[in-house]
Amino acid sequence: MGSSTKSLQAVLGAPGVKGKKVTNLSKDGLTEFILSKISSKQDVKDPFYVMDLGVVVSLMDKWIRTVPSVRPFYAVKCNPEPSFLGALAALGAGFDCASRAEMEAVLALGVSPDRIVYANPCKAESHIKYAASVGVNLTTFDSRNEIEKIRRWHPKCALLIRLKAPDDGGARCPLGPKYGALPEEITPLLEAANAARLMVSGVSFHVGSGATQSRAYHSAIGAAKNVFDTATRLGMPRMHILNVGGGFTVGHQYDDAAVTIKSSIKTYFGDYPGLMVISEPGRFFAETSFTLATNIIGKRVRGDLREYWINDGIYGSMNCILYDHATVMATPLACSSNRANPTCRGMKTYASTVFGPTCDALDTLLTGFQLPELQVNDWLVFPNMGAYTASAGSNFNGFKTSAISTYLAFSN
Ligand SMILES: *Cc1c(COP(=O)(O)O)cnc(C)c1O
Repeated sequence: MGSSTKSLQAVLGAPGVKGKKVTNLSKDGLTEFILSKISSKQDVKDPFYVMDLGVVVSLMDKWIRTVPSVRPFYAVKCNPEPSFLGALAALGAGFDCASRAEMEAVLALGVSPDRIVYANPCKAESHIKYAASVGVNLTTFDSRNEIEKIRRWHPKCALLIRLKAPDDGGARCPLGPKYGALPEEITPLLEAANAARLMVSGVSFHVGSGATQSRAYHSAIGAAKNVFDTATRLGMPRMHILNVGGGFTVGHQYDDAAVTIKSSIKTYFGDYPGLMVISEPGRFFAETSFTLATNIIGKRVRGDLREYWINDGIYGSMNCILYDHATVMATPLACSSNRANPTCRGMKTYASTVFGPTCDALDTLLTGFQLPELQVNDWLVFPNMGAYTASAGSNFNGFKTSAISTYLAFSN
């Protein structure tokens, strides 16, 4: 039995997946599957997601092949779809949670609390108390105030000191302006944690989401080693956890980051005994695992320009355009107006605008985008919509991002 057959069995039995229908896709079968879903719900034209478990399995395979010594703790905020979390849990991932509700969601899948890092450097006291009550015993900090709260409410919790990465790697969403201790703050923070009798087990950083330059990991790993050395110099217990955070995007950016991380660990940590390296990938696992299908609910023709309204938008799944600085792209499924050729292959295209459904002009998703002539009740399909989409959408204007359903499929 091949490793992916075993992985398939694991995800099919995963909490959140087990008991749900999972459709096996042939090669290029995704479009066919979406068409079948559309025709099976003729009257209901709500948007829906398809999650491809085959993609999730192959991404985990890739991670384990390329950086076997770096254990992934999937960052739940990126996409908390329960079946997705369950699949990742079955494939051996740990989880990065930032709030009580995220910890609850992961624990509800039967994941043990030692597979959770509570990776929010600034936590509400009530959430810290919750972590203590369920045995989530690893968190991050970058301020004295946080040390005081943890000492008071969860003194058994091990700590990772969060550094501001020296370089934001050209990130799409830099995190340095908000989080991470500065170099001159490291010694006083370590001393304060030590004085509070808290255990600082290691270092974490995040080079920024959607990092484009892998050298950001190199400099951050170097900075982390300096902190390990500082702790030793201060006579504190030997650090042993290095958390390299997230920032990974599928493709050459990931490949470069993986090479850089491996070589930087070698350079700075050599064969540091007992070193445990963890990471917090969000986008890497989520982005390409989800496809969104939306229905065209309105159309206006102005000369050569075609304008369409669809039933998801900037206040829903496509909030990623604003908050995640994403660009989206759409492919047509003319299931209503062109059944013989729903993908519209070979058809003339027009510069088109695509709007979301809310009464806000900001709710504009695509402009000057080439699409064939489509009609109300046709569909637009958006690939790679798993990262920072539904998780940050709202129900503004009565369009409920929170109610978009997810169908499960498995491609080989
Ligand atoms: C958001 C976040 C992540 C995930 O980042 P990606 O860029 O999606 O990989 C990881 N760790 C922390 C602390 C985060 O805030």
